[in-house]
Amino acid sequence: MLTHPKVGDYVTNTCRRCNKLVRSRLTLRNVELARTRLVVPDVLVDVCPECGHMISIAPEALPQLREAGCWK
Ligand SMILES: [Zn+2]
Repeated sequence: MLTHPKVGDYVTNTCRRCNKLVRSRLTLRNVELARTRLVVPDVLVDVCPECGHMISIAPEALPQLREAGCWK
C-alpha cells in the first residue's frame, strides 16, 4: 500500500518534543540543515499540531535534499 503523501494529509507520528503520539499534518516548510546551514525551500514535512515541532521529513522530499547537496 503505497500512497503519495501530499500537503494537508494527516499522518500519525510521535512528537519527540511532546513525547506522545499525535496526528500531524503534512506541510511545506523551509528546512535548514544543521550540518551545512543550507536552507532547502518547500520541503514536505510533518509537523506536530500542538507544538509546531517538525517531526519528520517525508521520504518523497529526500531527493530534494540530496540535490541540495547536503544529505549524503
Ligand atoms: Zn509536539
